[in-house]
Amino acid sequence: MRTIRRILGFLVVAAALMLAVAWFADRPGEVSVVWQGWRIDTSFGVLVFGAALLALVAIALARLWQSLVSGPRRFLRWRRDRRRRQGYAALTSGLVAVAAGDPREARRHARRADVLLDEPPLTMLLAAQTAQLLGDEDEAKRHFRRMLDNPETAFLGLRGLITQALKSGDTIEALMLARRARDLRPRTAWVQTTLLDLETRIGDWPAAQETLRQATKHAALPPAQASRHAAAIALERARRAVLENRPEEALAQAELAWKSDPDHAAVAPFLAERYLADGRARAALRIVEQAWARGPQPELADLHARARGCGDALSRVKAAERLAALAPAHPESHLVLARAAQAARLWGEARRHLAAAIAAGGGAATAGIARRMAEIEEAEKGDQAAARGWLERAAQAPEDAGWICGACGTAHARWQAICGQCGAFDRISWTARARVAALPAATATASAPPPQDGPKTT
Ligand SMILES: [Zn+2]
Repeated sequence: MRTIRRILGFLVVAAALMLAVAWFADRPGEVSVVWQGWRIDTSFGVLVFGAALLALVAIALARLWQSLVSGPRRFLRWRRDRRRRQGYAALTSGLVAVAAGDPREARRHARRADVLLDEPPLTMLLAAQTAQLLGDEDEAKRHFRRMLDNPETAFLGLRGLITQALKSGDTIEALMLARRARDLRPRTAWVQTTLLDLETRIGDWPAAQETLRQATKHAALPPAQASRHAAAIALERARRAVLENRPEEALAQAELAWKSDPDHAAVAPFLAERYLADGRARAALRIVEQAWARGPQPELADLHARARGCGDALSRVKAAERLAALAPAHPESHLVLARAAQAARLWGEARRHLAAAIAAGGGAATAGIARRMAEIEEAEKGDQAAARGWLERAAQAPEDAGWICGACGTAHARWQAICGQCGAFDRISWTARARVAALPAATATASAPPPQDGPKTT
């Protein structure tokens, strides 16, 4: 394309020249120049071409002069560009070597990049990562610390130092660094989640609450998870307030927990308990009934009886019926009826509801149900053999639902935000579980009890 254009250009210029020559040839004329005793006689055309030639020579000379003057500068610039290109290539190769886990190659490129590029911020990260790859954490720390001096690299340096502190288990150091990182970039998701993790780990619940508020504002967490954590943190604050005898704060935090996530199983029993302690039975009843409809659990049944002010066993049966009606198909609803009936010595009723609980739970009697059957056999008929049979069965049966850590599978007597076994935050939830000791943690909470034959109810 360019060649064609050039040829066309040449043709146009040549045609114009030929036309001009012809034009001047058709119109001859004399020109005489006399200057300082010199006399030049020529035609007008020759004079015009002579002048044009002179102008071209002058332009060519000017160009030559310009290139002579600017030549060294251009050469220097070209060399600097080449160095920078090579430097960036070394930097890239070094980062690739780090990613590929090749420390020798990474170190070679890091040194080369350092020599070629006069930009320490860029090469420090590579140097630090190379040192880490070589297992030299002290050297890496030195590089990360140097990065803190430069505003462009301070955040990356902090990230490296935080990772190091977390790896060495230095929670306080990690927390300090993470707070600095948040001051630099408050919107970064990993800063928010790391900070939340550290603050919950040391039990600084007010700080964790604020961090979670920020993280939620910047959408650093999925909304459902954020609400669940908000409830867990408020609940821990409420628990501490109870221990330190600040009932008003405890109630306020418990209400906040309920508002944050009413499905968090630990919230409703706690809040209902606070309302009862405050003499507000109706409020407690409202919470218990709403929570039962969402997800029944035994603790709520006891609170329900207290909120209704049940004195004798028969009034408890009545209360249990009202509660069970809120989630009629749930095994726990049958169990609350069975317990109330057993307490009222209504044996037939108790057996009927236990059988219904077994059926609603997928046909398998849990350990709790089997133990209750043993109690009934003994209390009603004094049938030791039948009771023993149920107790043997209880030993084999799936465990009842309980507070299970979703991270490590440990069962806890009561809910807490931090698992005492594995230290995970907000992983303990009210969960059905199977009696299989070696079940992997991840599936322990999700698996259903193994199928068993339903017990005979006679
Ligand atoms: Zn755990």
